[in-house]
Amino acid sequence: MRWDERQLSMLREIGIRLWVPPDERAAAGDPPPTAVAGDTAAEAAVVEARVYSPAGRPAAAAPHEPVAAAARGGDVATMDWPALRAAVADCSACKLCSGRTQTVFGVGNERAHWMIVGEAPGEQEDRQGEPFVGKAGQLLDAMLRAVGLTRAEAPPERQVYIANTLKCRPPGNRNPQPDELAQCEPFLVRQIALVQPKIILAMGRFAVQALLRSDEPVGRLRGRVHRYAGVPLVVTYHPAYLLRNPQDKARAWDDLCLALDVAADSVAGATGP
Ligand code: URA
Repeated sequence: MRWDERQLSMLREIGIRLWVPPDERAAAGDPPPTAVAGDTAAEAAVVEARVYSPAGRPAAAAPHEPVAAAARGGDVATMDWPALRAAVADCSACKLCSGRTQTVFGVGNERAHWMIVGEAPGEQEDRQGEPFVGKAGQLLDAMLRAVGLTRAEAPPERQVYIANTLKCRPPGNRNPQPDELAQCEPFLVRQIALVQPKIILAMGRFAVQALLRSDEPVGRLRGRVHRYAGVPLVVTYHPAYLLRNPQDKARAWDDLCLALDVAADSVAGATGP
């Protein structure tokens, strides 16, 4: 991938190293990428967080298969997109339905290579019916843009699909509760099955809990390749967390770079010789 000036300036602003595709790096005989020169804070963060390099990539974590969905999950599991969309819009399976303006289904390319999974709609999302349209979403968009990805109309290798673990806004943006996550899970499971992504980026604690069934902190799960139903999954910080903890942006960037490598491998594996 070639970086244009806008991308370079954004990365410099965040204090982040560049991602170079493994084949280009190998061809050039380059060492693994380093932090943007001159930003010692970013360099320190990257060195500390170094989990990514083709040679040094950590072993894949133990695979996780989704557990059987809740009882009504059986119906959801065979739905096509229009049926699934309608089922979400009509859902009253948990108490969140009473406080929502509308459900927030998901957005993007229905055959996207990249699937981004977040937590739950906030105020703006509830109002607009689209995931990640508030401040956290703007940061997510900027990070995606910097690696050539987008939520806007584009071919499946560039246009991501974005969904949340919950389709309704929890009141006051409180954390999702276990019964809400359980009731909503079949929808996300079906979205993933329909999209068939090459890579899943799980952002934040609740996406991780839903997809990996793990209560481990994000900081301990990131930097490795997990699997969800056979699909490679990379864990990273939630953009809202990054807004509160900008010192971890360099680590999030590392995660994005790891996901880029994994997605490239995944596509090459699917189309390889
Ligand atoms: N945070 C999320 O996890 N999802 C959204 O859609 C918005 C904020």
